[in-house]
Amino acid sequence: MTLSPAFLDELRARTQLSTLIARSLKLQRAGREFKACCPFHNEKTPTFYVNDEKGFYHCFGCQAHGDAIRWLTDAKGLAFMDAVKELADAAGMEVPAPDPRAQAKAERAAGLYEVMEAAARWFSEQLEGIEGAAARDYLDGRGISEATRRRFGFGFAPDARGRLKTALKSFGNEKLVEAGLLIAPDEDKEPYDRFRGRLTFPIRDARGRCIAFSARILGPGEPKYLNSPDTPLFDKGRTLFNLDLAAPASRAAQRVIVVEGQMDVIALDQAGLGEAVAPLGTALTEAQLGLLWRLSPSPLLCFDGDAAGQKAAIRAALGALPHVGPGPSLSFVTLPPGK
Ligand code: ZN
Repeated sequence: MTLSPAFLDELRARTQLSTLIARSLKLQRAGREFKACCPFHNEKTPTFYVNDEKGFYHCFGCQAHGDAIRWLTDAKGLAFMDAVKELADAAGMEVPAPDPRAQAKAERAAGLYEVMEAAARWFSEQLEGIEGAAARDYLDGRGISEATRRRFGFGFAPDARGRLKTALKSFGNEKLVEAGLLIAPDEDKEPYDRFRGRLTFPIRDARGRCIAFSARILGPGEPKYLNSPDTPLFDKGRTLFNLDLAAPASRAAQRVIVVEGQMDVIALDQAGLGEAVAPLGTALTEAQLGLLWRLSPSPLLCFDGDAAGQKAAIRAALGALPHVGPGPSLSFVTLPPGK
């Protein structure tokens, strides 16, 4: 965000967390802490603790964890800046004026959401058209239902270098390049469409906004899947495919499943397992593990039943090892060879 860490530290130091939380939750004293029945999950015995010294709350049941700001955003549904303003008012502090450069960056990113939304719409229209026949055949072949197509926003990128560029020209090439939709080879060469002759589907952020695309080739060729490059909206190491839909589903199912491929996630969703996510073509990162542990204390990793899948599972286990303990852990499903 645009606020300095020093300001946020001062804000936390001046806020007594137990007083803030006690406004909406009945707290019982427990030694140097307070405890209560967790507001983030259903329980009869309190496992939700508030620690004023450390300035955070923690639930041993569902791993909900955060500081005063997080309490206001997650429990009260406030936007980050509104939470900061409310706490600053109570603490008698002035929120500093935002840094203009950070502001400009945030505004640029905001404009890119519109670009991505327009691209998603355009790809979907192409899937319905004459050129989309091969892509529709592919979806039929994989048994992807009409409802799933709509739910995941499938589309088609025609096999041409300038179709999307022309269709979205009102945004200007610079924005389309910044959004990762066009490739700009050189300053003096014309930019061209990144996704060509591919089935497309949006990669969404935790709030359900389209931030990137994944695109599968329909004939022979490499790579099989092509994702958007990292952009001001998209950081692949900090994104999990389908997190926005899987988060509520995982609360109901009390588990979250991690699979290797985005099409695996979509197939599982269609089969009634909505609580599945996938990394985006890389090994699980620490940031992604953090996201998973917010959903479940022990995410279930279910990688392909082949040597590569086994290797990926072992790599994830090794990566998680420094962070596992009595709370966070990982579980593994081993599939038979070839599955
Ligand atoms: Zn909880």
